[in-house]
Amino acid sequence: MKTGQISVQSENIFPIIKKFLYTDQEIFLRELVSNAVDATKKLSTLSRVGEFEDSIHDCKVEVSINEKKKTITISDNGIGMTEEEVEKYITQLAFSGATEFVEKWKDKEPDQMIGHFGLGFYSAFMVSKNVTIVTKSFQKGSEAVEWNCDGTTSYTLDKGKRKKRGTDVILHLTDEDAEVYLSTWKVKELLKKYCRFLPIPIEFEGEQINNPNPIWTKKPADLTDEDYKKFYEELYPMQEAPLFHIHINTDYPFNLTGVLYFPKVNQALDNRKDRVQLYSNQVFVTEDVKDVLPEYLVLLQGVIDSPDIPLNVSRSSLQSDTNVKKITAHISKKVSDKLQELYNKDRSDYESKWEYLDLIAKYGMLSDEKFADRMKDVCLVKTTEGKLNTVQEWIDHCKINQTDKNGDSVVLYTTDANAQHMSIKSAKDMGYEVILLDGTLDVHFAGFAESKYEKVKFRCVDGAPIDQLIEKDITIESVLSKDQQETIETAVKGIVNELAFDVKIESLPPQQEFISIHRSEWERRMDEYAKMGQSMPFGDLGLKKQSLVINSNNELALKILSKSESEQKEDLQYCLDLALLEKQQLKGEALERFIKKAKNLL
Ligand code: ADP
Repeated sequence: MKTGQISVQSENIFPIIKKFLYTDQEIFLRELVSNAVDATKKLSTLSRVGEFEDSIHDCKVEVSINEKKKTITISDNGIGMTEEEVEKYITQLAFSGATEFVEKWKDKEPDQMIGHFGLGFYSAFMVSKNVTIVTKSFQKGSEAVEWNCDGTTSYTLDKGKRKKRGTDVILHLTDEDAEVYLSTWKVKELLKKYCRFLPIPIEFEGEQINNPNPIWTKKPADLTDEDYKKFYEELYPMQEAPLFHIHINTDYPFNLTGVLYFPKVNQALDNRKDRVQLYSNQVFVTEDVKDVLPEYLVLLQGVIDSPDIPLNVSRSSLQSDTNVKKITAHISKKVSDKLQELYNKDRSDYESKWEYLDLIAKYGMLSDEKFADRMKDVCLVKTTEGKLNTVQEWIDHCKINQTDKNGDSVVLYTTDANAQHMSIKSAKDMGYEVILLDGTLDVHFAGFAESKYEKVKFRCVDGAPIDQLIEKDITIESVLSKDQQETIETAVKGIVNELAFDVKIESLPPQQEFISIHRSEWERRMDEYAKMGQSMPFGDLGLKKQSLVINSNNELALKILSKSESEQKEDLQYCLDLALLEKQQLKGEALERFIKKAKNLL
């Protein structure tokens, strides 16, 4: 038997590693199984170049637990190691790798890295008191060796009991870890999570855990729609079938494969699990891909696999990585290409899917300029009548009947068709049409579309009296004299809270409401920016007011003026309450007063 010293600079790296992987301790299994898979892959490579002649078809990895001995064993029939190789690869490489890792990360906050790759074999000590390796090289005439180490810098090396080529890594679990990892259920769960698509069979208790040939490793031409559907079910059991998929298969200038699915969900940005999973050479890395993919693509589902995404860097530096940027741009292009293709192939089918595409499309357009340029002609809007048009088609349509004095098309929209029913009605009475922009990002989208498309304004139907939404060059005379206007304006100001309302008297067409309440386009957009946590371009100017418009040409104006002061006050209050009621703002005592008055009128 031989004993040796591992030459590492810092004696006690283990506690540091343990501290900072404490939440992700379980990755030890992924690391060891990946090593075992690599060892068999190396054998296939040797076989290809003629340096290994036996069959490689029985290559597999077996994981087993022994409750009595408190061990987990990872066995492979890969290339194995000679004594020299054990010394070189395990005692030097693996330990120096771990030292390097600690040097790099010791001053950082835990949990900043993606996937925690880079520890490899050394991660075995995360859960073990002792680790034994029994290995025999594939090379003819080589003898089995047994290596033992307790995670400190000394180890022993001896003759091993192993007849066939390959490696057993035996973890003698600490008492504490034995409680967790000696459960069949737990080990199976971990294998299913990390090893589900590893390229050679992984067996645990007689059962093969993995699918070694997931569809993203195959050529699209060799696959049917049914294959994609089945794979979706495999990834996300019990979910509604997806709308369609995108198969990504690139090997230059980076290696990226994967299958992305558009899920059939249209709810807002919830925290739904089951999103895109990231793999590296079929090894599961994470399903928390928000540092790798822009947020709008995180709404998709499926798998991306790229060995070119650096996994041993901090999450925050990922997004600025050149490869990650290129990969993201590539995926984004694939997504917009797919949408364009669907649009061009069968527009009515595309329209029928739009409700599910809407959020991803708009979110993408708002956050990625190049994506926006590509999506510009296939982004749809829906009218309150359910008609779908591209944004450009709709702008052109509005040119016919909804042009303002500057020649701009005015797109009227509603953020809530039910609540804004009255405003929509008065727009329709004028022969105008209204589109629905009632999604989470739609008010932002309105602002964005004004900058992206030419000569267009987006206005919410309840932002102002309908005439003022589409401004014409016509001035309407007021039926009331200046004095009369002032009387009414002062009387209204006397009953409203001037901090909440900006009171104005205007000469509008007589058929329009006597008193109406509006939230200006500007206010609405500022509120939406604030909701998204974005700072307002001009700061909060305290403009929280709504505007209250009195129409001096409505017949009620003259009627009310002819009454006594106290009657005037009562009538104006009633008209104000009606306006508040329409805006769902009549509450509490005001509502009680209003109902009482309405009953009295009966
Ligand atoms: P990495 O895999 O990143 O090189 P590791 O610390 O995981 O680093 O492993 C160090 C080296 O030990 C590997 O490169 C490999 O040469 C050798 N090794 C580890 N596990 C096995 C195994 N099961 N069979 C053969 N060689 C192995």
